[in-house]
Amino acid sequence: MVPGPMTTTVRTRSQSSPARTFDTENPATSEVSATFPIQDEDEVNAAVARARQAAAWWSDLSWKEREQRLLAWKSYLTRYMARLAELVHTETGKPVADAKLEILLAIVHIDWAAKHVRKVLGPRRVRSGLVGLNHASYLEYQPLGVIGVIGPWNYPVFTPMGSIAYALAAGNAVVFKPSEFTPATGGWLVSSFAEVVPEHPVLQLVTGFGETGSHLARSAVNKIAFTGSARTARKVMAACAQNLTPMVAECGGKDAMLVAADADLDAAADAAVWGAMSNAGQTCIGIERVYVAQDVYHTFLEKLADRVTQIRPGDDREADYGPMTMPAQLDVIEKHIADAMAYGGRAVAGGLSSIRRPYVGPVILADVPETSHAVTDETFGPVMTVTPVADLTEGVTLANATRYGLGGSVFAKNAKAAMRAARSMRSGMTSINSVIAFATVPALPFGGSGESGFGRIHGADGLREFARAKAITRMRMRPPVNLTTFTRTDADLKKLLGWITLLHGKRYRQR
Ligand code: NAD
Repeated sequence: MVPGPMTTTVRTRSQSSPARTFDTENPATSEVSATFPIQDEDEVNAAVARARQAAAWWSDLSWKEREQRLLAWKSYLTRYMARLAELVHTETGKPVADAKLEILLAIVHIDWAAKHVRKVLGPRRVRSGLVGLNHASYLEYQPLGVIGVIGPWNYPVFTPMGSIAYALAAGNAVVFKPSEFTPATGGWLVSSFAEVVPEHPVLQLVTGFGETGSHLARSAVNKIAFTGSARTARKVMAACAQNLTPMVAECGGKDAMLVAADADLDAAADAAVWGAMSNAGQTCIGIERVYVAQDVYHTFLEKLADRVTQIRPGDDREADYGPMTMPAQLDVIEKHIADAMAYGGRAVAGGLSSIRRPYVGPVILADVPETSHAVTDETFGPVMTVTPVADLTEGVTLANATRYGLGGSVFAKNAKAAMRAARSMRSGMTSINSVIAFATVPALPFGGSGESGFGRIHGADGLREFARAKAITRMRMRPPVNLTTFTRTDADLKKLLGWITLLHGKRYRQR
């Protein structure tokens, strides 16, 4: 049994000290689920100080010892997945099955990080080259120390795990500040880790709103791994600047799907609807824009419209997706739909009437100008715009005309054309003939550019994100020419220049 706040006990906020705790609510029912402390600067700093000690112990373990503990955690999450999924459902409103899917993906990532970290970060010999010939050269990646992870609410297990699992595997301790919408899920993850690693607080929880996150960014952590909006990332970066604390920023997106004339339209329509509507569109790598080859545009629109008639939001077990987790997002969705319609957009399915708080039914918009908010800004709701283009080339141009650069998708039968389009998309990840597949492959890096952030989680790059490269040379023999001494003679340098000219000075013929 996992200790800590894993049940949804209803407690009321203390009236005498209203600022010290906060309640979480079930977004479908507005019932209070649980109460958590708002942790202040001293409490956050104390957690970081405890983490510093835990980090010393954790990083001193052997690769095998850390791997075994991480695999035990993975096994624990797998065995108790149903409980965690219920908690995610209560806090976010997403269907239990979707919660299981995100937990399953998190498990796959812990497994990969645990099993590959030694190969990626472990000590290795590298060639010394001619100038350093008398030295043995070593490269290794050492842990940074304590990582502050600040998480969002939309995938409260999978998303922070992209940082937590990789940071832990790299030998760091972690202080985790989950979103104020999902602290119980965060608490469950931390408590479950303590079940398998009871010795030291290697993974700790701090709870609260943005201010608590800000305390973490200003604390003595060695890096911040932030996931959330670009607006907040700017504030976190400013806070990190005080101590020159580096950060990785995983922010929002406005991902596009390109559909070529030769694409399997049924598969593309199915993927577009799931990519845009699952989790009520509250997915950073969700499909928000679709660019379709003119020749198949109308057929594709019909297929989309037909598919969305079969899906609906709700809180029951048959619902395809749940309510909007964050009430304020409903206003953004409303504004985007209204703006699109005001500037000539047409609702092919749903519309403003699809907003039935806290739910939003599927909305498909056509003829929306590229300057409309529904095309330029992250909507984060079950809404997609569908726009005709001449071909994949024009699709890529429009897909890239955005401040964001996170994920994307290409549907085409011609593999070469699909690959070319995927490469040309200015995003961190693209899936061909599927959506979001890149997030399921733990060996692949995940991250964006522009308003979507910077740095990478997942894969070897994700492990290196939480480590510092350390270079060591060891002199093996006296040098034929000693360069790093004031006793160096002109003849010594001449000798070396002769070798270098022989090796590098030949005229280079470009083929
Ligand atoms: P948010 O930016 O409102 O909050 C994210 C986290 O930052 C929360 O824990 C919040 O308490 C904390 N925070 C707020 N102000 C802070 C401050 N001043 N200093 C430090 N921390 C602060 O984002 P959200 O609404 O929780 O999440 C939705 C956003 O996250 C969307 O834009 C979505 O696209 C993005 N997201 C990105 C990824 C990705 O991997 N790229 C994954 C999931 C979500």
